[in-house]
Amino acid sequence: MIQSEHQRRAYLQALGIDVWVPRDQAEPPPVDVDDQDVPDGMDWPQLRETVAACTRCALHQSRTQTVFGVGSADADWLIIGEAPGAEEDRRGEPFVGRAGKLLDEMLRAVGQQRDQVFIANILKCRPPNNRDPKADEAAACRHYLERQIELIQPRIILAVGRIAAQQLLGTDAPVGRLRGRLHQLGDIPVVVTYHPAYLLRSPTQKRKAWADLCLATRVIAEGAA
Ligand code: URA
Repeated sequence: MIQSEHQRRAYLQALGIDVWVPRDQAEPPPVDVDDQDVPDGMDWPQLRETVAACTRCALHQSRTQTVFGVGSADADWLIIGEAPGAEEDRRGEPFVGRAGKLLDEMLRAVGQQRDQVFIANILKCRPPNNRDPKADEAAACRHYLERQIELIQPRIILAVGRIAAQQLLGTDAPVGRLRGRLHQLGDIPVVVTYHPAYLLRSPTQKRKAWADLCLATRVIAEGAA
């Protein structure tokens, strides 16, 4: 997926990073974001309610329900995936299918349970036919995820899969280039790893995912030292 330049700039600006743009390349301001429900300052229950009623993008027309995320609002680990699939849309919970079972196993391997971490997605609504999120959908949903990050204040963000990694880090680099090292989102360390659905198809890559989880564990341990 090619990340739009506007989206990348908006993200850097949201993080408080000045973005210098040559005058002849400046883009017009976004027109599609309704500022009325920008969740700055909302507490967790208000945010949950606002997300449940969201109509910021067209996905609200086809969803069964929003998928806010699951786990502890006080978690050290924030796991971010791509978007709800069919089963997640039905149940209102992220990562409940086969990929979710593998994610649970991966977390258990580093001593974490589903209810100790927080699991969310770039999108709160299911894209039809599980297609990739569109740029406007990710932009419309971004405020919610940013507020979740602010409220949780995780000690590590684990971005699982290409879409999550690229959206969070504002890059179009592949997971193979992003994994295995530390990134930052503001002052929060970010580790990128393979999506569990990909690991189900390519089990030989599980070794690398394990190394990524060990890196995330080390970052938390070093932060606590
Ligand atoms: N894949 C994701 O990225 N997120 C989910 O919630 C389910 C599958």
